Amino acid sequence: MAEAGSFAEKVKQQADIVRVIGEYVRLRKTGQNFTGLCPFHQEKTPSFAVHPVRQIYHCFGCGAGGDVFKFVMEVDKCAFPEAVRTVAEKCGIPIPRPRERSPEERRENQQRAALVEMHKEAAALFVRQLHEAAEGKVATAYLEERGLNREAMVRFGLGFAPSSGDALLRHLKPKYSETLLEASGLFSRDANGRFYDRFRRRIMFPIANDSGKIIAFGGRAMGDDMPKYMNSPETPVYSKSNVLYHLDRAKEMLRQQDFAILVEGYMDAIAVARAGIANVVASCGTSLAEPQIKLLARFTHRVVVNYDPDTAGQAATERSLALLLEKEFDVRVLALPGGADPDKFLKEQGAEAYRKLLGQAPPYLDYLIGRARQMDRSTTAGKVAALNFLMPFVQRLPNRLLRSEWATRIASELRVDEPVLREALRRAATERRGEVKPKVDLLAPAIGPAERRLMQMLVEAGEFRDRLVAAITSAGLHRGLDTERIFEVLIAVEIAGERPDPAALGAALEEKDRRLLFEVLFEVSSEATWEEAESCLELLRSRHVERELAELQRKIEAKAPPEELMRLLARRLELQKLLARN
Ligand SMILES: [Zn+2]
Repeated sequence: MAEAGSFAEKVKQQADIVRVIGEYVRLRKTGQNFTGLCPFHQEKTPSFAVHPVRQIYHCFGCGAGGDVFKFVMEVDKCAFPEAVRTVAEKCGIPIPRPRERSPEERRENQQRAALVEMHKEAAALFVRQLHEAAEGKVATAYLEERGLNREAMVRFGLGFAPSSGDALLRHLKPKYSETLLEASGLFSRDANGRFYDRFRRRIMFPIANDSGKIIAFGGRAMGDDMPKYMNSPETPVYSKSNVLYHLDRAKEMLRQQDFAILVEGYMDAIAVARAGIANVVASCGTSLAEPQIKLLARFTHRVVVNYDPDTAGQAATERSLALLLEKEFDVRVLALPGGADPDKFLKEQGAEAYRKLLGQAPPYLDYLIGRARQMDRSTTAGKVAALNFLMPFVQRLPNRLLRSEWATRIASELRVDEPVLREALRRAATERRGEVKPKVDLLAPAIGPAERRLMQMLVEAGEFRDRLVAAITSAGLHRGLDTERIFEVLIAVEIAGERPDPAALGAALEEKDRRLLFEVLFEVSSEATWEEAESCLELLRSRHVERELAELQRKIEAKAPPEELMRLLARRLELQKLLARN
């Protein structure tokens, strides 16, 4: 994929796969490799490995594997050119002007770029309206009343969409086509098909993607206008479930602090960030969507959920909890006293009080048990209801040991007869959605150690690869092996006088063979010697003879003509002697 001399090739040479993957997966050094939890399948013990020398990754669980570009393509769900750019950006490699792509791709890219530009212009207009227009004064006063000073309004890029209904339209119409105006989601059409501003008389919160580009808006009504919050619709640049508000500004602190505070709305996120706690993100919807969790997982696996304590907030907390648990997040719940949302609490009690409660936020289990305790448990039916409330959360836990700990804890807290509960838990556990099991059958039949070692040597043994290839090809030792195709590719590289590149080798192979080769390449190896190569070759020779013998036997039994039979029997004797010698 990365052609010699291409930009991709250059990026690949300079990029460090461990560093790039380390931004998505928490990697730990294990021997010569790095390992972590696979981002492509659910697991509780790491089977995902990154090889720093060979610059490849491989999951021993689900079989995913490739080079740094393949990883980014899979994890970001993007095309090769985009993956190259992403890796280049992450490694600080300057990107040349993109080459011409397919007309369709180019049109889409142009459209996205134009939409981002429109949002930037719209945001600037909204900001000007807030600070300069007469109508903006009312909005400013309203925000100040809610505790936001000018500095905060500027810092978070807040703006105001005027009530005229065509301020933004007049601003953007001369520069952009109807198609773009339509696609931006910034406008609606009236009964006559004419455009008008989607956001009117609203405080505007710019919503940025994780690289800080504004791609949508959230508009809050002033006073009692309905709906209270209005968001941009889904557009080519914005998908609600793929964005976390404030993530672009929280990234650094999320990594440093290794935990996120998850709040519901813009005002909450802003309030928490203003209190000096920058590692806050808002789901901007009542509950968290799965892509948002994946996004967050790139930065941390620890979350304090701090939703509003009202009923909707509670339900959202519980839905989000279930999803986070399933993704193996370490979750705590901060339920602020007095029914306050974070914004209100911070205003009334201040940052210190908030930090203190944040530090004391109980693990989700305590929170949930607390909720269950509020239920009437004086009757059996009540106890069953409390159990039924807790059970779905237990079911989501991927870790059996943890599920068992929960059982004990819940049993004692709710004063339920433990055997009964354990039985319910056991049932819950078996009904749980199955984890992806390592697909052992993919590797069947087992490939012998000599073959495995020879494959390794054909990749790394620089000094005698040529001799090795000559020994294998002259006798056709690889013919008929399950790994024949892999050997062919490795041999072809040597004959072409090229340096073996694991990722390129993988790309030349079928997926089944690619997996096997990568597994072999991840096996710990010491420096290869020719003596060792010889002993591996010897084993291969024996197997070669065995295969020929089996073939002879088949022919002999098939009643060959007499003179042919004589030849076959003579050859069989020869081969049997050869085998006996070994
Ligand atoms: Zn995997």
